[in-house]
Amino acid sequence: MVRFERVTKRYGSLVVLDELDLDIARNEKVAIIGPSGSGKTTVLRMLMTLEKIDGGVIHVDGEPLTHMERNGQLVRANESHLRRMRGKIGMVFQHFNLFPHMTSLGNCIEAPMRVLGLSRREAEDRARELLEMVGLRDKMGHYPSQMSGGQQQRVAIARALAMRPKVMLFDEVTSALDPELVGEVLNVIRRLGEEHDLTMLMVTHQMGFAREFADRVCFFYEGKIAEQGAPAELLGNPKEERTRQFLSAVL
Ligand code: ATP
Repeated sequence: MVRFERVTKRYGSLVVLDELDLDIARNEKVAIIGPSGSGKTTVLRMLMTLEKIDGGVIHVDGEPLTHMERNGQLVRANESHLRRMRGKIGMVFQHFNLFPHMTSLGNCIEAPMRVLGLSRREAEDRARELLEMVGLRDKMGHYPSQMSGGQQQRVAIARALAMRPKVMLFDEVTSALDPELVGEVLNVIRRLGEEHDLTMLMVTHQMGFAREFADRVCFFYEGKIAEQGAPAELLGNPKEERTRQFLSAVL
């Protein structure tokens, strides 16, 4: 569903992703862990087409993300290709980034109406269903400022899902939350993974959650995957010294 082939990203002389190869199957749940600055967030930003690729190619759902084929050659994608590809991917950020002047329901219907062209009625029906799914049935008319961080983050998840993505990206979605609110957000994500046909990629510092949620954990180090494997194996019995050092510092 998602494939990075020798993807390189540089900022000036700093190589942030170094010929990265990463292949994620449909419906697979992958957790990305690693030290600060190792390129974890950059992987998600590249998938959101927020960053230019300096080398290699990314495929999503069988198509090149930022390029398209024309006469057997890969050329830079035009805006309509990019828009279509972006529609396959939903992202939830560390800071919820909700529209402050809109209610939960308003936040969840805006893009489906504007981008997907749904009628207000259709968008609202879907938004209600999703807000209910994330446990916010009684908060549909609330504004972000009237909700806790955990509730806002659940609205952000519902809002991303309202666009019917095939791939969901989560970037440290619990790190801005008070500890007692972390569980409610992780529970929603866990349920999503169990009940929906979604490929999920999650950057996380929550090793416990990575262990129970992910099918695979990738340990990033200096822009490459230094080690990857099943969570119990990688977190419980890492082979690489760098992984061991990282885990002993965070666990
Ligand atoms: P953290 O766990 O701290 O979020 P990370 O592994 O997610 O780290 P990235 O955010 O992917 O790291 O950043 C990788 C490197 O790229 C860092 O050294 C960062 O300073 C650098 N970087 C990121 N964005 C930019 C930018 N716009 N301009 C210059 N350097 C950048």
